[in-house]
Parts: sequence; C-alpha cells; structure tokens
Amino acid sequence: MAQQQKELRKQAQDLLLKFNLRKTGCRIDVLELFLQNHFALSHSDLEKLLGDDYDRVTLYRTLHSFKEQGLVHSINDVSGSVKYALCREVCSNHQHHDNHLHFNCTRCGQTFCLDEVVIPATVLPEGYQIDSLHFSAQGICKSCNATPLAGF
Ligand SMILES: [Zn+2]
Ligand SMILES: [Zn+2]
Ligand SMILES: [Zn+2]
Repeated sequence: MAQQQKELRKQAQDLLLKFNLRKTGCRIDVLELFLQNHFALSHSDLEKLLGDDYDRVTLYRTLHSFKEQGLVHSINDVSGSVKYALCREVCSNHQHHDNHLHFNCTRCGQTFCLDEVVIPATVLPEGYQIDSLHFSAQGICKSCNATPLAGF
C-alpha cells in the first residue's frame, strides 16, 4: 500500500515535470486524485477529497494552471457542474484535442472520458467556425451495470 502511494507520487511529480509545472503540495495532491480516480472530478469533489489541506483559491489556481498547460480538460457536465479529467491525448498550452465522448452515468452521477469514442469530423455551413465541440452521452456506466441496484 505504501509502495503504491509512493509510485503514485512519483507519477504525479513526473507529470508536473513533463508539463513544466513547479512542484507544489497542492498540485501533487490534486494530480494524485486524478490518477487514482477513473472518472472526472468537479471542484467540490476535489475539495471534499482534499479536506482542509488547501483553500478554494489555491485549488482554483491549481486547476487553472493544469488546464492552461494541457494536463486536464474541463467537461460541462449535464448536472450543471464543471468537471475536470486528465488529458490522455497530446495536449499543450491552449491547444486541447480532447475530442472524445463524455459519458455521464445517471445512476452514480460520475462522468467518464471515453477516449475510444472519437467525435467524427464535423462539417459546418460556411461562415461558422468551431472553437470547441462537446460530445456527451447519458446512461448507465460499466460499473453500475455490473452492480445490481440495492434492494433487489
Ligand atoms: Zn486536453
Ligand atoms: Zn455509474
Ligand atoms: Zn474527457
């Protein structure tokens, strides 16, 4: 368990280095949470998971710098809250290429990046220019599908 924690920390530190981000306690802790969870996390999810270790502003700045550097992308969730997930494609400063489906589970409420589902190239009428495209689906996720509803 301790070994696993060490590896996670190393992984987080390597990522910060790769993305030219200075190592701070908050950045490392937040990154570890993203690496540990396979679903997207909102600002308040992170606040809950981190406890009282960091204030809202520090957390806000951390997420902002991650997004700027192409480490995480934001997802406008159907629930209305903005969630963040690690970029798996090659993203860099101000250039995100996260054109995959975001799946929102109506049972557990989590949002997942489905990298294997790529948004097809979209052709728009003349005069329209796309800055970002959001592709989302709602339904039951893999783990909820495998777990019978409580009470049954
Ligand atoms: Zn990205
Ligand atoms: Zn689910
Ligand atoms: Zn995503």
